[in-house]
Amino acid sequence: MNKVLNFIDGDISNSSNRYQNIYDPSTGEKISEVVLSNSFDFNKAIESSNNAFKEWSNVTPLKRSRILSNYKILIEKNLENLAKIISLEHGKTLDDAKGSVIRGLEVVEFACGIPHLLKGEFSQNVGTGIDSWSVRQPLGISAGITPFNFPAMVPMWMYPIAIACGNSFILKPSEKNPTCSIKLAELFSEAGLPDGVLNVLNGDKEIVNLILNSKIISSVSFVGSTPIAKYVYETSAKNGKRVQALGGAKNHLIVMPDANLDQAVDGIMGAAYGSAGERCMAVSVAVAVGDIGDKLVDQINNKAQSIKVAPWTNSESEMGPVISKEHKQKIEKYISKGEEEGANLILDGRKIKIQGYEKGNFIGPTLFDNVSKEMTIYKEEIFGPVLSVVRAKSYEEAINLVNTHAFGNGTSIYTSDGEVANHFTTNCKIGMVGVNVPIPVPMAFHSFGGWKQSLFGDHAMHGMEGVRFYTKLKTTTSRWPKSIQKGPEFKMPTN
Ligand code: NAD
Repeated sequence: MNKVLNFIDGDISNSSNRYQNIYDPSTGEKISEVVLSNSFDFNKAIESSNNAFKEWSNVTPLKRSRILSNYKILIEKNLENLAKIISLEHGKTLDDAKGSVIRGLEVVEFACGIPHLLKGEFSQNVGTGIDSWSVRQPLGISAGITPFNFPAMVPMWMYPIAIACGNSFILKPSEKNPTCSIKLAELFSEAGLPDGVLNVLNGDKEIVNLILNSKIISSVSFVGSTPIAKYVYETSAKNGKRVQALGGAKNHLIVMPDANLDQAVDGIMGAAYGSAGERCMAVSVAVAVGDIGDKLVDQINNKAQSIKVAPWTNSESEMGPVISKEHKQKIEKYISKGEEEGANLILDGRKIKIQGYEKGNFIGPTLFDNVSKEMTIYKEEIFGPVLSVVRAKSYEEAINLVNTHAFGNGTSIYTSDGEVANHFTTNCKIGMVGVNVPIPVPMAFHSFGGWKQSLFGDHAMHGMEGVRFYTKLKTTTSRWPKSIQKGPEFKMPTN
């Protein structure tokens, strides 16, 4: 049986003998095991990262950029293979997996510009004969803890920028699909990254707790569910670390009566059911405003029924299984709860059977109508292919739903009215907003992050936010000895 171990100091290794099974979500069969690292593995990673940081932080930004450029080429060459690893362990379609690697690659491309991004600020003559300048310096060892749903993209939101800024990085990927992270680290090594600058440490909460409580690690980047994000934020902050912790979501898409309905329905299809709804930017609530509700529900229902649900090995697949048996059961319970609480179940994904894959974690597109804000399926993140339609009488009622929900990751509005769109983008309390686009995921040169219960901390991921997060600001004020000597001064110097 294949075992997924750690990647520490340029080598595959492990000390722990504790393992967790990895399953193929399409077949339900065990395909490998991942090591759940212990304190020996952790200490080895820390020693390696600490040694690597001393050298790497002194490598010029231009040389770091050249290694990142080599890495970009290697990722492109290995795109198909990386996507297959993701699809096998995650279940998403091959095209979707490829797309997610490319979105991660865009962060590498952004990080290639690090000599420019790290340029500081300089002021001549802040006082007579005195100059002042600000620079950004690396933090030290940064750590990243990532979820199962984007095994390449989410880690790549973090380590390319952290490393470009001169930090060393310890990645703790999801134990459900860790193989892609090992492959990404090996490719970085092949691109010329010195040993120890990127270490991959596999494991569960035991290793997460060692990271959060470590006195040597300077910063923690986390992406996952809200309860764990909150715990990571609080524990890291208590231990004096810089922390950004991204949590769950409940993204609303508002459809106004003047919207192009065909465009809105097409957008909703991919956003609600793509990747089996296991995206933090998935649309899980469609808010139908005014009299558009009946037509919207009819069209979504018709199109959703024709979505091809199949394993990733079938090139026609549009939607794969969910990650695990337990997660499938959890989603099914939410569907039952929606029925009990009085929502209209229009399309029930629990009935789906895929011939030859009866033991896979498949669940079909599911649609609820007349969902209200008191219902569990409205309040909680389901993280599956379940779309709730809420009817709103007016735009004001719709934006109020968006703004009073506990989560604040993404949202979108479909309308032909520029004034309404402007009002929405200005006044919604959400981190990432779309107008007539279903999933407004910012590109690498902007920053990714939500509001409210979707992000704990002050910094979003990647873009300039990433550069700021992974560096400390230092401002120097300097005068050379031959400038005028006035003797000691005891009042605040002013100009
Ligand atoms: P998760 O919270 O279960 O796991 C995330 C990471 O935390 C994993 O590495 C896991 O090993 C670790 N972890 C899990 N339980 C822990 C515990 N008790 N103590 C310490 N560490 C623990 O999340 P998941 O199921 O892997 O991913 C799905 C979640 O991630 C969803 O809620 C989704 O919305 C969220 N997500 C958010 C974003 C975003 O940008 N906001 C992006 C992707 C995914």
